[in-house]
Amino acid sequence: MVTVDNILVEQQRNDVSLNRYSGRFAPSPTGPLHFGSLITAVASYCDAKSHDGQWIVRIEDTDIPRIYPGSEDHILKCLEAFEFESDATIIFQKDRLDIYESVLKDLHDQGLVYACQCTRKMLGSNHIYAGTCRELHLPLEHQAIRVKVHDENICFEDILQGQHCSNLEYDLGDFVLKRRDGIINYQLAVVVDDYLQGITHVVRGADLLDNTERQIYLAQILGYPQLEYMHLPLAMNEHGTKLSKQNLAQALDTAQAPQLLSQAILALGQLPVDLDRPSVMLKQAVAQWDRNSIPKGTEISGFFK
Ligand code: GLU
Repeated sequence: MVTVDNILVEQQRNDVSLNRYSGRFAPSPTGPLHFGSLITAVASYCDAKSHDGQWIVRIEDTDIPRIYPGSEDHILKCLEAFEFESDATIIFQKDRLDIYESVLKDLHDQGLVYACQCTRKMLGSNHIYAGTCRELHLPLEHQAIRVKVHDENICFEDILQGQHCSNLEYDLGDFVLKRRDGIINYQLAVVVDDYLQGITHVVRGADLLDNTERQIYLAQILGYPQLEYMHLPLAMNEHGTKLSKQNLAQALDTAQAPQLLSQAILALGQLPVDLDRPSVMLKQAVAQWDRNSIPKGTEISGFFK
């Protein structure tokens, strides 16, 4: 169904050349890229290229208050130094807010979202939203916007992690698509852009596994096709927590690109590649890529920095 409000969305989608496999790397500039990000970049790249697919880069920068100064630059410098080439122009989500707003308006016209004035404190200790504002029909301005969910199991078969299910009503309740401060939530932006960019496969860290049912649900109500998911085991630091920007994981050192690339390929359980310039190493990694060799589970054993 194409309404006036989603014409913009449909027009963009028509420009996408739909490949059999289309993957992406979608970092948020909330800190510099670290070794865990490199693992995601390598795996998403090799999986796409070994399936003759395209691989594109998208910068997920809608959460303005969390953007870390200079990290966008560091991401772009790393992509260059590691010789990763996006098959499409790199898009920045902060330039696409009108698209997400038009999707929200469309969902509102269909009665699928509503404004919510509840504060975090009112949610109670389990953080499951009870739908307090569902029938209040509050004006949308200056309020959070939540999407209605139902009592149904949403399940998917992850390529590495197997079956994963969630009942959004019991596990979460109606969830936020736009915050009261006007920030478009990651869940909405990621689903809309994966669709508009013709993405077919999502390869990312297992820390995002629990977000997937929300994204599948949003794609369903928006009439978008279901994607394939592959959630990678996470690189941990010596304290047994995942490498992350919040845990101040070391920024990737672009001067060490071949060495770091070699380590990331090994951490993914793949055959070693010869040290060379990154593009040559990536070519060899693609030729040798074997999903079945990726370590099982949600953590890579060993310590990383
Ligand atoms: N932007 C997210 C992050 O940097 C990744 C989103 C995704 O791959 O779906 O953690």
